[in-house]
Amino acid sequence: MQKKFEKQINGLYIDPAIFTQPFVKACDVCICSGECCYYGVYTDKGESDIIMSAKDKIIAHMDDSQIKEPEKWFEAPEVDTDFPSGIAVGTEVYNGKCVFLDKQGFCTLQKMAVLENEYKWKYKPLYCILFPLVIFEGAITFDDEHLVRMHYCNKSENQNSTIFDCTKNELRHLLGESGFQELLNYKTEFLSNSHNEETNIEAA
Ligand code: SF4
Ligand code: SF4
Repeated sequence: MQKKFEKQINGLYIDPAIFTQPFVKACDVCICSGECCYYGVYTDKGESDIIMSAKDKIIAHMDDSQIKEPEKWFEAPEVDTDFPSGIAVGTEVYNGKCVFLDKQGFCTLQKMAVLENEYKWKYKPLYCILFPLVIFEGAITFDDEHLVRMHYCNKSENQNSTIFDCTKNELRHLLGESGFQELLNYKTEFLSNSHNEETNIEAA
């Protein structure tokens, strides 16, 4: 793994750009229709296996815009070392959206977990939970290539927060509470150093 950033937490480097990158305060699929899900997502092989093990329940929660044939839900597996198993499996796109996105813009995997009183992210792939964060070459950073396609959260007039502030719960999920506290401390240190550097440049 190549060292690109200074800070590492739980084995993952931290791209400090997540602290300052403008973003919406919160996701709202009633406004964006879940458009980040229009292109599908890469899951870990283990995650796609968990999804397939719940296929009958998932089908029961799908609507008429979704394909109810599980064998058409995933692409062929491929090698990818950013995934825990070393194998990535993409979700297929059907009707112009991920096979698991319903016509109201909700992820069926999350909707099903909530309706069945289970942990809301029990079936949801990690990369879906994290977006616009992404783990790329061993670092937590953000997916600017995919983000540029968004018509709501990527518009400056809607960006009244930062990616970090919008994704605190997701970062807690990824790093655990102690890892998240370490991240908070690093954020304070990083922003303070940046401020001091700016002050020194202005004074020079
Ligand atoms: S990341 Fe953007 S497109 Fe995706 S749910 Fe949030 S606001 Fe909507
Ligand atoms: S699995 Fe769910 S959250 Fe992930 S891209 Fe598909 S619809 Fe969106």
